Amino acid sequence: KAKNPGEAEFHQAVQGSVECLADYLIKHPRFLKAKILERMVEPERVIQFRVPWTDDNGNVQINRGYRVEMNSSIGPYKGGLRFHPNVNLNIFKFLAFEQVLKNSLTTLPMGGGKGGADFDPKGKSDNEVMRFCQSFMTELARHIGPDTDIPAGDIGVGGREIGFMFGQYKRLRNEFTGVLTGKGLGWGGSVIRPEATGYGTVYFAEEMLKTRGESFAGKTVAISGSGNVAQYAVEKVLDLGGKPVSLSDSNGTIYDPDGIDREKLEYVKLLKNGYRGRIYEYAEKYNVAYFENQRPWGIRCDIALPCATQNELNGDDAATLLANGCILVAEGANMPSTPEAKNLFIENRILYGPGKAANAGGVAVSGLEMTQNSMRLAWSHEEVNQKLHRIMCNIHEMCVKFGKEEDGYINYVKGANIGGFVKVANAMIAQGLV
Ligand code: NDP
Repeated sequence: KAKNPGEAEFHQAVQGSVECLADYLIKHPRFLKAKILERMVEPERVIQFRVPWTDDNGNVQINRGYRVEMNSSIGPYKGGLRFHPNVNLNIFKFLAFEQVLKNSLTTLPMGGGKGGADFDPKGKSDNEVMRFCQSFMTELARHIGPDTDIPAGDIGVGGREIGFMFGQYKRLRNEFTGVLTGKGLGWGGSVIRPEATGYGTVYFAEEMLKTRGESFAGKTVAISGSGNVAQYAVEKVLDLGGKPVSLSDSNGTIYDPDGIDREKLEYVKLLKNGYRGRIYEYAEKYNVAYFENQRPWGIRCDIALPCATQNELNGDDAATLLANGCILVAEGANMPSTPEAKNLFIENRILYGPGKAANAGGVAVSGLEMTQNSMRLAWSHEEVNQKLHRIMCNIHEMCVKFGKEEDGYINYVKGANIGGFVKVANAMIAQGLV
């Protein structure tokens, strides 16, 4: 902490992992001797840069860009780009640290990284977003490459932004490669990539439910966020017979007790991806409740899927969920539960799937997009979906293997951290002091 003052989320992420790894490390002293943990918390490289661009009124704007290249012991750096006004180096270090363990869990050969900028795409015209993306990529291009570092999307970075950045990279390098994932289907993207994180979270939750002889059928599901992850979580919950009843954005939450059905979901996709509106418009259209500045955790539900952002579910929210009979929490977002919430879920022995396991489906399909790009071919919808499903089941098995407690409770947090750590740590030892 003294070395990285003020980096609260980074400390939170590292502390969460260290607590899970402590006993394992004592039993495996070779990792302690090689100072693997101390090395893992130090990024291999941090890049920070100026991003100047002009808005539609001709005013000069300056943002700050970042790329944290955290660990490349099992493959090239891989992880998303986030455009959001509240990001800083601390946020990217926390996300990159989580990404290293998550990518290892997928079993695909990917190291970990994360980056982005304090640019807010909300309220910007397409032309402004394009000029920003071009300026951002003009600097980032020299640090990334299809065998070096392969960024993807995250909050504020979807198909539109990936397209603008890919175009600029191609123009600078004069090469058409798989340097970014999340590309459009007609130009190197993979089917199921947009769906992958939301679908993967629900596949993972389904495996968790099976351990208690349960399923999604007939269950009420509270979901936060209304972006990429939340939308496809809703879709897969519907496929499995559950009833999603909420969505949110940074201004508030809608509660639809009749359930968000497929038709309403299509409207949400149009609202958020098409004309980039706000979630309260859903409440106006369907005449349902809107809770301004609130999150969905006060709503009675069997299952909660936080799919918006970090620390969006605190100890009080966790206590409310438990009091209302919630039996499962699976994280589509990265680190949405605070340490207090996480501890309450585990103490109360409910099924709790942390983001680094539950939301790994997105980066897994990004890995599959890289493979398809290298082979210069495209797999079918069915093939990619099956692969995604298998990967989520494998991650679940890994969590059970490393996370089963003496009383039979599956501590997914412990399982995911140890499961992700072992492969990276062994590779670091094999590759010497680098
Ligand atoms: P999007 O930008 O598509 O959507 C983000 C959603 O979360 C929006 O509804 C947004 O509301 C809301 N949100 C963002 N910041 C805040 C905030 N500070 N407070 C409240 N609500 C907020 O992003 P994604 O759906 O891609 O990402 C959501 C989460 O999932 C993130 O934690 C991300 O890291 C994680 N994730 C994403 C993956 C992917 O493949 N996309 C992969 C793995 C994890 P608003 O419109 O008001 O900003």
